[in-house]
Amino acid sequence: MKGAYVGIMLVALCAVAEAKPTPPAPIVVIDPGHGGSNLGATGGGGALREKQVTLAIARQVQAALAARGIDAVLTRDDDRTLTLRQRLARAEAEAADAFVSIHCNASPSRSQRGYETYVLTPTGVDVDARALRTDVAAPRPEVDPTVAAMLDDVERGAAQWDAAELAVAMQRRLRAVRGPDGDRGVRQDAQHVLLGATMPAVLVEVGFIDHPAEGRELVDPAVQDQLAGAIAQAIASRLDR
Ligand SMILES: [Zn+2]
Repeated sequence: MKGAYVGIMLVALCAVAEAKPTPPAPIVVIDPGHGGSNLGATGGGGALREKQVTLAIARQVQAALAARGIDAVLTRDDDRTLTLRQRLARAEAEAADAFVSIHCNASPSRSQRGYETYVLTPTGVDVDARALRTDVAAPRPEVDPTVAAMLDDVERGAAQWDAAELAVAMQRRLRAVRGPDGDRGVRQDAQHVLLGATMPAVLVEVGFIDHPAEGRELVDPAVQDQLAGAIAQAIASRLDR
């Protein structure tokens, strides 16, 4: 009797083990802003280029995430021109758990400084977004088109909340390394729309490259390392890593 009992217990334990497969490692798409012919903002009389700062930080974010068991894919790992649509297509193709675009700011007065995070939103562009997404997102062949569109909206709604929380986490971590004075908060802007994103998507402006002091800091490898660490921590905290 006892042997049979142990046997049954083992079968039951195996069933439990099979029912809980190890979850796959999260995938994050890191997007270094600009690149190639698109220089982005410049500072220091043109010597400091946003496209170079964003790539340097993105590579360090990738390394910091890898150390935490999170796969990070860069939309570009060299100096090339990419459209917004190509960047998003990459995130969709990877079925990313989050999309983080890295940028530097600039101001007409060249006197502003600080960091801010935008929640990327599909609000108000649903029709165009759906048209654009047809070649990058897997279709739902079994589902009525109206229902599929509704499911897309639900997914985007949930992604919005996650993106807002990721943006808050980003600001909190940046505040810890850059100080509270530069905290410009979480923002939402029609200029920073990410068409059709169904994963949490944010855009972080790490600092003003045209500010005489902050611009020099942004090209300092030690500061880039701090910024990358803060961004990676924020992402990891939202992915429970
Ligand atoms: Zn930019």
